[in-house]
Amino acid sequence: MTRLFFSIVAVFFCFFFVAGSVCAQEHKSRYVTLWYADRAVLEEFDDNLRLNRKLRNGMRKNNVITVADGVLAKADIIVEKVQVVLDMFPNSYHVRLVVLPDSDDVARVYQSRYGKRVNHIAYYSISEKTIYISADDVSLRVLAHEIGHSVVDHFFKVRPPYNIHELMAQFAEKHVTD
Ligand SMILES: [Zn+2]
Repeated sequence: MTRLFFSIVAVFFCFFFVAGSVCAQEHKSRYVTLWYADRAVLEEFDDNLRLNRKLRNGMRKNNVITVADGVLAKADIIVEKVQVVLDMFPNSYHVRLVVLPDSDDVARVYQSRYGKRVNHIAYYSISEKTIYISADDVSLRVLAHEIGHSVVDHFFKVRPPYNIHELMAQFAEKHVTD
């Protein structure tokens, strides 16, 4: 019964997700392609993603008109800061950022991909070069952690062991506010 329920939820969500992706506009910046389910979710994400003053001052604000523009400007400056913190500047860095309403949605996507139930508020998929993240739970540190994983992933030709990958992401998370 439980199993049946999960597969129904997973199938429903994939459908929803695909339909949403088709309807949603693609927003692209230098480093990030942004996807989101709806505007309210993106606004919540933007509200929760508060930068410190140093990062805010470094943002390119000239083309910021919509909420999506603002989110992309924030994401780009975090990418740049994480690259400096890790001292890793991959040649062709680009990542997809999928903003989901909450951690249940992140769990559903994870389950649909890997068949495992987890309770992550965000994760980075190496095979899809994509960050899945909960608008409800996002913060500067959470996003910096996942961007850390993506920078490490783009930088190394041979993937470092899982624990090292994780340590570098934690380092990025810790020092993004320096
Ligand atoms: Zn991690």
